Amino acid sequence: MIKTQIVIIGSGPGGYTAAFRLADLGKQVTLIERYNALGGVCLNVGCIPSKALLHTAQIINEAKDASHVGVTFNEPLISINGIRTNKDNIVTKLTNGIKTLAKARKINVITGYGRFISANQITIENSDDIIEFEQCIIATGSQVTKIPTLPFDDARVMSSTDALNLSNIPKRLLVVGGGIIGLEMATVYNALGSEITVVELSDQLITSADKDIINPLLRRIKKQYANIFLNTKITKIEALKEGIKVRFEGKNTPKFDTFDKILVAIGRTPNGRLIDCEKAGVEINDWGFIPVNKQMKTNVNNIYAIGDIIGQPMLAHKAIHEAKIAAEVICGYKSGFNALTIPSIAYTDPEIAWTGKTEKELKAEGISYEKGLFPWTNSGRSLSIGRSEGITKGLFDTKIGKILGMGICGTNASELIAEATLAIEMGCDMDDIALTIHAHPTLSETTAFATEMAQGTITDLL
Ligand code: FAD
Repeated sequence: MIKTQIVIIGSGPGGYTAAFRLADLGKQVTLIERYNALGGVCLNVGCIPSKALLHTAQIINEAKDASHVGVTFNEPLISINGIRTNKDNIVTKLTNGIKTLAKARKINVITGYGRFISANQITIENSDDIIEFEQCIIATGSQVTKIPTLPFDDARVMSSTDALNLSNIPKRLLVVGGGIIGLEMATVYNALGSEITVVELSDQLITSADKDIINPLLRRIKKQYANIFLNTKITKIEALKEGIKVRFEGKNTPKFDTFDKILVAIGRTPNGRLIDCEKAGVEINDWGFIPVNKQMKTNVNNIYAIGDIIGQPMLAHKAIHEAKIAAEVICGYKSGFNALTIPSIAYTDPEIAWTGKTEKELKAEGISYEKGLFPWTNSGRSLSIGRSEGITKGLFDTKIGKILGMGICGTNASELIAEATLAIEMGCDMDDIALTIHAHPTLSETTAFATEMAQGTITDLL
């Protein structure tokens, strides 16, 4: 029997952040992780490896597009082993870093699969260990959603985790699901030479963002990809010797096509039902999420939950924020989840980023708003870098001009969105943003320009 003050199940961004904060606040912490490497989905098979591969894709694409600045490169010599090694080295550096930081804080890391026996005890599968705890944080995250009828045992049918392994580069790749993860992996495989088809059930890629923010991306990838089928369903998949035969149902789509590989990226499912929560009395909702209050507390007084397991959006920065709250509440602080916005980003090319309310949310909620749309064709910086397809959109309250939301499509949108996120948290109005001096020439100026367009102080565009 191992006795501990706090046990955390899962070492993803939620789990390790909570462990570090608790240890820093003087608690005795046990962290259970089923895999040898710490860091969860984000560090091992999510955010970090995908961004390492996207950086490779960016280098290839920039070299391909360089002729307009008067420089022409030869066709790149691509070493898949080299790309994989670079990605793996980055992942190992970070996961080892988490291990070192845990050790420095004297966190007891247990490798194994944890399940509740009661509201105070957890067993570790295939071991005699029983951990008795005073308080617990569930941070078990989520896993790839699989369509049960698809032949996932065939290596040509990939999840995002398989796709990140880069076992080979298929000639023809079908990406099932036009969401963030599917489109990021499409960006990588396209740069590495695959002919891409994307199939999406709804009428828009990345459905949670506004359509006008997605359009510049759509226009660009329409030229690069073989096909983008919207409003289209897959009704059958057959693993044949010559390829994966797919039957489509949609307007203007072929009935059948055959691909060398398919990537299924239709979402992620929380791991709530896999840890015997009922034995601890922890409630799970119909979608498999664990409901919590603002203090991250479940319905059981000494058990907390954070990260993907508690609901959308399933994002690492949300998990990290919630982890700090849970840790502080356990230590007696008056912390609570009070964030006004959680930014979302697709690291596609161009990138898409949005924060606060989207225009469609404002319409659905009947909130009146002013809108400023600044096309990047009018930005000196975007023209200088040859990427003027972007757009920055600001949404403001009609009465007092308070910022409600912002959406950006374009190079570095992932970095640019931080200003609007802070503005929302600070309750900034149009003047706060428009009268702030933004350095020239920068892409960040587009945030001020979009705001001035909403104010009506910029009316002329190129
Ligand atoms: P996880 O990271 O899922 O960690 C949970 C951990 O718990 C895992 O290590 C798991 O092994 C362990 N575990 C589960 N059950 C048990 C058990 N019973 N016993 C012991 N251990 C257990 N988010 C972003 O914000 N930005 C991005 O760019 C981004 N890119 C992504 C790209 C991809 C391809 C994917 C798949 C996801 C991406 N995400 C991104 C989402 C992000 O990875 C998750 O939101 C984040 O990892 C959630 O953190 P978490 O701590 O809740 O859980």
